Amino acid sequence: MRDPGVSCQLEFFAAADLEPSSPATKPGPASPGRLSFPVIHERINTGPDRGKTASKSKPQSTSDALREQTLTTRAVMLLVGLGLEAIAPRVTVRWNRRMRTAAGRAYYEAFRIELNPGLLTLPGVDGNAEVDRTLRHELAHLIAHHRAGGRRIEPHGDEWRRACADLGIPGEARCHTLPFQSRRLTKKLIYGCPACGSEIHRVRRFRVAVACYDCCRRENGGRYDDRFRLKLRRAPQA
Ligand SMILES: [Zn+2]
Ligand SMILES: [Zn+2]
Repeated sequence: MRDPGVSCQLEFFAAADLEPSSPATKPGPASPGRLSFPVIHERINTGPDRGKTASKSKPQSTSDALREQTLTTRAVMLLVGLGLEAIAPRVTVRWNRRMRTAAGRAYYEAFRIELNPGLLTLPGVDGNAEVDRTLRHELAHLIAHHRAGGRRIEPHGDEWRRACADLGIPGEARCHTLPFQSRRLTKKLIYGCPACGSEIHRVRRFRVAVACYDCCRRENGGRYDDRFRLKLRRAPQA
């Protein structure tokens, strides 16, 4: 299985991925693009190599669902607090595990906010505060759009800034640049193929045996071959 986020030059796969017991279906969240038009896409400054993205879509855990409920309730209360009772019941908040470069997104038609669960695990950042700020940022998009009543407005224009101020985040930046960027800077592990010398850079250690794809394809018909198992060359600096 390819891991599209790690490296352009070197493909690799994990031995575990080859076992027949590997789940073939991914019950992850439905693609939002087909359900409603994604109007806002918050960009984060990340490089082309932005760390581990190998996590597969997992079935949603109960704690995720509870958290989504809590976040949805928070969004409803914020709307009610601004006298927007009419639209408050429509809002929903969900995690989107497929988000890579965005902290969050707002969908006008569905009146839905999606948040990147990576916000909770950013190094050196208060994850809950980051989630709350992003929630308000996205909610401000929904409010600005609603207040505009069909009028075309700039995504991060005056109407959005006013909604941010109403939601207690005056002076909110249009994009979050810091959090996901720091992830890139922490990528200090280097793995190498003992045969061809290809290298890949990682944030975290592999938890399963991973072999060089090129060599496995060339020498072993594309199946995992322990001779080409990637070896750790450089450990993180203290
Ligand atoms: Zn925004
Ligand atoms: Zn190789």
